[in-house]
Amino acid sequence: MPNKKQNIFSFGDGKAQGGAKMRDLLGGKGAGLHEMTRIGIPVPPGFTISTAVCAYYDLHGRRYPKNLEQEIARALQQMEKILGRRFGDGENPLLLSVRSGARESMPGMMDTVLNLGLNDRTVQGLIRRTGNPRFAFDSYRRFIQMYADVVLGIKTAGKNGGDPLAEIFERKKDARGARFDTELAAADLQELVGEYKAAVKKAIGKDFPEDPVEQLWGAIGAVFRSWNNDRAVAYRELYQIPHEWGTAVNIQAMVFGNLGDDCATGVAFTRDPASGEKRFYGEFLVNAQGEDVVAGIRTPRPITELFDVMPKAAKELERVCKLLEKHYREMQDVEFTIESGKLWMLQTRAAKRTGFAAVRIAVDMVDERIISKKEALLRIEPDQLNQLLRPVFDEKAKEKAYREGRLLAKGLPAGPGAATGRVVFDAEEAVEWKKRGERVILCRIETSPDDIRGMDAAQGILTARGGMTSHAALVARQMGKVCVAGCEALHVDDAARALRVNETELKEGDWISIDGSTGQVFQGEIQTLPSEVLRVLLTRSLAPKESRIFQQFAKLMSWADAVRRLGVRTNADQPDQAAIAKAFGSEGIGLCRTEHMFFQGDRIQAVREMILAEDETGRRRALAKLLPMQKEDFKRILEIMGSLPVTIRTLDPPLHEFLPKRDEEVVELAKIMGVAVEVLRDKVNVLQEFNPMLGHRGCRLGISFPEITEMQAQAIFEAACELKREGKNPFPEVMIPLVGSRPELHEQKAIVERVADATQKAYGVKVRYAIGTMIELPRACMVADEIAEEAEFFSFGTNDLTQTCLGLSRDDAGKFLPSYVLHGILPEDPFVSIDRDGVGALMRVAIAKGRKVRKNLEIGICGEHGGDPKSVAYCHELGLDYVSCSPYRVAIARLAAAQAALRDKRK
Ligand code: PEP
Ligand code: MG
Repeated sequence: MPNKKQNIFSFGDGKAQGGAKMRDLLGGKGAGLHEMTRIGIPVPPGFTISTAVCAYYDLHGRRYPKNLEQEIARALQQMEKILGRRFGDGENPLLLSVRSGARESMPGMMDTVLNLGLNDRTVQGLIRRTGNPRFAFDSYRRFIQMYADVVLGIKTAGKNGGDPLAEIFERKKDARGARFDTELAAADLQELVGEYKAAVKKAIGKDFPEDPVEQLWGAIGAVFRSWNNDRAVAYRELYQIPHEWGTAVNIQAMVFGNLGDDCATGVAFTRDPASGEKRFYGEFLVNAQGEDVVAGIRTPRPITELFDVMPKAAKELERVCKLLEKHYREMQDVEFTIESGKLWMLQTRAAKRTGFAAVRIAVDMVDERIISKKEALLRIEPDQLNQLLRPVFDEKAKEKAYREGRLLAKGLPAGPGAATGRVVFDAEEAVEWKKRGERVILCRIETSPDDIRGMDAAQGILTARGGMTSHAALVARQMGKVCVAGCEALHVDDAARALRVNETELKEGDWISIDGSTGQVFQGEIQTLPSEVLRVLLTRSLAPKESRIFQQFAKLMSWADAVRRLGVRTNADQPDQAAIAKAFGSEGIGLCRTEHMFFQGDRIQAVREMILAEDETGRRRALAKLLPMQKEDFKRILEIMGSLPVTIRTLDPPLHEFLPKRDEEVVELAKIMGVAVEVLRDKVNVLQEFNPMLGHRGCRLGISFPEITEMQAQAIFEAACELKREGKNPFPEVMIPLVGSRPELHEQKAIVERVADATQKAYGVKVRYAIGTMIELPRACMVADEIAEEAEFFSFGTNDLTQTCLGLSRDDAGKFLPSYVLHGILPEDPFVSIDRDGVGALMRVAIAKGRKVRKNLEIGICGEHGGDPKSVAYCHELGLDYVSCSPYRVAIARLAAAQAALRDKRK
């Protein structure tokens, strides 16, 4: 165990005071350096100043702990002993790199200083040691430039905020007619050193520090302060990294990849981070320093070529990479430098990878007996599975679009995948264009139920308003469509048939590309690639044995199913959606929103007639038209699902959502219905609501118009009885929405039971069925015991429960929710991930009260949270029976449920 007061931890020459387990104290980079040293990998010696010192520095007005100075002096001595060089020595100087390294990697957010320890004296020593004055002065001028920027803040100190040293450098190149840095001679670089120093003095009124010890303290302070620079703070907020963690500082002996042609620097991966293939992968540059690879000034070469130019070092690198992967039992991403033919490792960490690579590596590593199935399941971010099911942008084409400045804006990543198509502004156009064989992206301010056909025809949906549970978002997810919602920078001008983002204007028919996994919107076409998993499971255009990724996906899913406790159902209201979900392993339907069926074909006419009817007789007449259509849908869905439960919800949305919006439509409908246009207009106006989501909707409709519930129940039971007669075994569960009190459910249940009895009698069969309710109002949670007297099952409608619990409208909260999350007022969008403290508390009450009355009460969730991995884990914790999510999230939920079971300590 480290001594509590120990501020710094040394490593070098095969010995290290720290190791992989000390990530919190040493940061990710530090822990890796110590561990590599321990296992005999060549790492330049050095020491790590712990993250605790950073916290101390922040808390104590930028002062250091008492013994730090002594500890650093001792550690430096130790390095000097190992290397036979001295810090600040004019003959054979020790030079240092000073690099940040937090617990979680924060790429490029904090500062680094290289070549520290150079001054007018030590540069002579470096020349003597290397025999290379050009190299020595290049290192010196790079050091001054970096130090002046990072430690002395010269960019901000300069009058116009530019980088005065970079300007001097460019001027020098111009004066020498040099296009590349490499064309400057030693004398030019030496001159630059002098000019840089003069510029520093002019900018900050002080000499550039010559004393190496002073330089070192300057760099340490700068790295600590960079923990709190704006971009690092913003990054932590984005990725929810606690501010109090602090960064470590790694101080190491410099090794040089730029001493000559037997030197190189690069990065390598133990497997391919894009495909997961087991092959040595990476890039390098000969005669270069690390930043040259990152800065993209020269194009790096593939690592395979290293075997040609430096075979010995390349073999050693391959050996080290294998050793590291075996040691960590995880794919590694490393940084290395080769100095005069000798390999040095500068970093190792678990490599970032695509969803494809994550699945392949996890399954391969089980086959290679490196990890267990349990570890494999825990290594994949459930959301990453999305990538396997969606078309994706061709990475190169996307990068090109990026480079060409075609990124227009960013909205909410509401429906993952990549889509490219021509801009259209309304649903009818979308359908028309599709008929002509065009691919389209439907661009709307926001969508409404009558956009469904257009959404279906489009490759993707882009909206300017609305959040993660807006109509566009949830319908798109259910359909498996790509969707970017709430893209506030977008000005959709329906009248002009144009959309604008800042200066750019796109007209109907122009190409646009959207990435529903990141929320990015690009101008122009970007090529996409289809999902192999879907080609096997859905279109059956690929045989399973021909798709490795499908086989690995299927294997992983079977492991997940073996350990999960939660059931996984789907939200589907069309037969094709039910079929997709079943192919993805759904164990039933958790929510069939019957109203979505009202928009198919010309049904909407009958629905409108029903709504606008003057009396019950008129309503019944219209309902009679709807009955056979609903029955047919239910029958097909029940048939597809076999004997699995199918939860069918009675009508929920406010009626005005079904009514015509544009005046031409009102005129047309009046003609069809044979009523005066004025009468119809008045009626439409009466039905408008200000806050429809809390108005005349849910079971309130069925209570006002019992004949609607009656028709829907009849459609359900006739469908089920017919199937039963055909020898099938359907299992409908009738669900009443937006119940807030027992009497509401009691009344609706009585209607359903009456119809169920009569229909079964008429058909002479008995079907298995259940009647239950959605729990989506706070009051329903508080009186769940009373409701459970009537309900055979509960299903949490957490979309409405979130909006009613938080008092946030699910339709327009997108306007300010992102800033709430950014400022930490809410940890996350509560429409995406369950708000455990508020909504979760209500759920707990409902579960406890419900199960007190009915011990075996079946409880599920069918809000959008049912497909969010964190919420799935929470549902496991709460003891729910199942989660229900959109078809394309079924696999994600299966994996998330397995992870929740594996992490469950109560087992
Ligand atoms: C819910 O409120 O969570 C729910 C599933 O119902 P809807 O989204 O249809 O209101
Ligand atoms: Mg609801």
